[in-house]
Amino acid sequence: MSVVDRQEWDVVVVGAGGAGLRAAVEARERGARTAVICKSLFGKAHTVMAEGGIAASMGNVNSGDNWQVHFRDTMRGGKFLNQWRMAELHAQEAPQRVWELETWGALFDRTKDGRISQRNFGGHEYPRLAHVGDRTGLELIRTLQQKIVSLQQEDFRETGDHESRLKVFQECTVTRVLQEDRKVSGVFGYERESGRFFVLQAPSVVIATGGIGKSFKVTSNSWEYTGDGHALALLAGAPLLNMEFVQFHPTGMVWPPSVKGILVTESVRGDGGVLRNSEGRRFMFDYVPDVFKEKYAESEAEGDRWYDDPDHNRRPPELLPRDEVARAINAEVKEGRGSPHGGVFLDVSTRMPAEVIRRRLPSMYHQFKELADVDITAEAMEVGPTCHYVMGGIAVDSDTAAARGVPGLFAAGEVAGGMHGSNRLGGNSLSDLLVFGRRAGRYAAEYAAGRTAEGTRARVDDAQVDAAAAEALRPFSAEAQEPDAGPPENPYTLHQELQQTMNDLVGIIRREAEMKQALEKLAELRVRARRAGVEGHRQFNPGWHLALDLRNMLLVSECVARAALERTESRGGHTREDHPSMDRRWRPANLLCSLADPAGGAAGDPAATDPERGRIALERQTTEPIRPDLLALFDKEELVKYLADEELEGRSE
Ligand code: FAD
Repeated sequence: MSVVDRQEWDVVVVGAGGAGLRAAVEARERGARTAVICKSLFGKAHTVMAEGGIAASMGNVNSGDNWQVHFRDTMRGGKFLNQWRMAELHAQEAPQRVWELETWGALFDRTKDGRISQRNFGGHEYPRLAHVGDRTGLELIRTLQQKIVSLQQEDFRETGDHESRLKVFQECTVTRVLQEDRKVSGVFGYERESGRFFVLQAPSVVIATGGIGKSFKVTSNSWEYTGDGHALALLAGAPLLNMEFVQFHPTGMVWPPSVKGILVTESVRGDGGVLRNSEGRRFMFDYVPDVFKEKYAESEAEGDRWYDDPDHNRRPPELLPRDEVARAINAEVKEGRGSPHGGVFLDVSTRMPAEVIRRRLPSMYHQFKELADVDITAEAMEVGPTCHYVMGGIAVDSDTAAARGVPGLFAAGEVAGGMHGSNRLGGNSLSDLLVFGRRAGRYAAEYAAGRTAEGTRARVDDAQVDAAAAEALRPFSAEAQEPDAGPPENPYTLHQELQQTMNDLVGIIRREAEMKQALEKLAELRVRARRAGVEGHRQFNPGWHLALDLRNMLLVSECVARAALERTESRGGHTREDHPSMDRRWRPANLLCSLADPAGGAAGDPAATDPERGRIALERQTTEPIRPDLLALFDKEELVKYLADEELEGRSE
């Protein structure tokens, strides 16, 4: 079989976004020799695209803020399905992570008295997002990269080699986690430019690969986000948690078609932007759900006053959590009150002077000017929902970020499930990356050190390496594998059909019959994808890369569709037209997806074609009861809206 380059490390981090880099820094600082692998160039990850800011209750703009308020907001935003211990750790540790970033060189925007400035965002009771204009993610990644370079310089001084303890492998894709029994032994991957295979042996692997957006047609996500880490974990035997929860951000660009889905940051609304329909009405006032009624303004006048006097007024409903705003926009368009290109209007031009807009929202100003020829200082933007973020993910231990069931596997960032429940609040991702990236790095390093001390590091099995190489090479011989089945399938066509299916049938509003139809289509695509074929050779061949990514997108899409069909209620990023209300009986229920057919659905195997069987097995598990001192942070009247009867009974005992 192919000659495969091999190296030995203590910790391998797959992904160089905020979570991966923070994990790598921590693992290296705790003495682990650490390798980081990323699909694109070092420094280019979703985290760079983050605009609005990092949520942390530093209380710089409103001293009423503290971790308990942040915890409450996060649980409300997630409709109480959050893995509460993660939400607690996140709220407690986020400020420290932001200050730490500042000591590493991050330059945040300041308040008049020189502290880190914080802005308003949907679902956050106080101004809480530390930011750098609308380019916060760029500053976060720049700072973490700088930190990595400084650690490499330290290593050079000590060892004469910059990369002796911390090395970045850029433009490389991991396709398999290797294991001895269940224990992690390393990863298998390929260099995108040369197509050469490689193995990094390590007892600890941290998955930090971000999201799944490229399975949907309209998305704010870029080409890298094909659910690789979710699929790697599934294939290694770790379950995925609550995959039905996919966030459709309310404001993506809708025009021109070539840029449909690109994000319009929530800061536009946080800074005063308002949503109007084709009749000029601020329609969000018509869509405040009962659970939020007491917290949001009843009139435009009150909502407008809140920007200057938040202590004596309630916030405008444009700042409801994202799921609520996305559904409202969807409903307005469906009722025929949309904008010319199928969205609604988002207006800052009548709310702020032009120079303030250009200063506070520079990326948005340029984005609309250059991509749509719209001057947002003079006219309204047209916006509509776009697939943005996945709340579901690898099931992890809250404290250690260890993936369930696979010793040595850790996960952090968007790829990990639980933290955000059924819906993530804006700004809570960047803080999640830092809090749990650090924890994953720490526990991955400790685990690796333990195996090394005991002399029990798992060994790489050559047969697994050969199988991974054969799997990766399959698209070059698709026709030869099944000569009677006709010409090979085009990976681009398969991808388009997958995206259309997920967009139309498992999108923002879901119906039972459509999800069943989606599962049938996914079964068909799964069979056809085994015949995805490419021409040419392994040197930079994007068709081949996509053919390999299809395995991951199909697995993850099946998880989303199966879990969405199972959950017969509407909650956060999961809306069922046939079950339109949140059902308290579902509050303590987690849905776990695992691989039912590890062999991959070989030809002739009914699981490959039967949508009923599929490849994914679903299990319902009861969540761990929320700790009483955390429940005590909420009024009983509020809890009654969310918790199941048996949970409320438990509370009064
Ligand atoms: P990412 O930053 O997505 O990085 C993933 C890494 O994994 C990349 O390096 C990628 O190359 C690598 N990778 C993937 N697959 C493989 C593989 N198979 N092999 C090797 N490497 C792989 N959140 C906020 O909190 N505030 C905001 O203001 C905000 N704004 C946003 C704006 C936009 C346009 C978008 C798209 C998202 C925004 N988010 C925001 C969400 C947030 O940016 C992401 O959730 C977060 O950055 C994800 O970080 P991560 O470290 O988990 O992964």
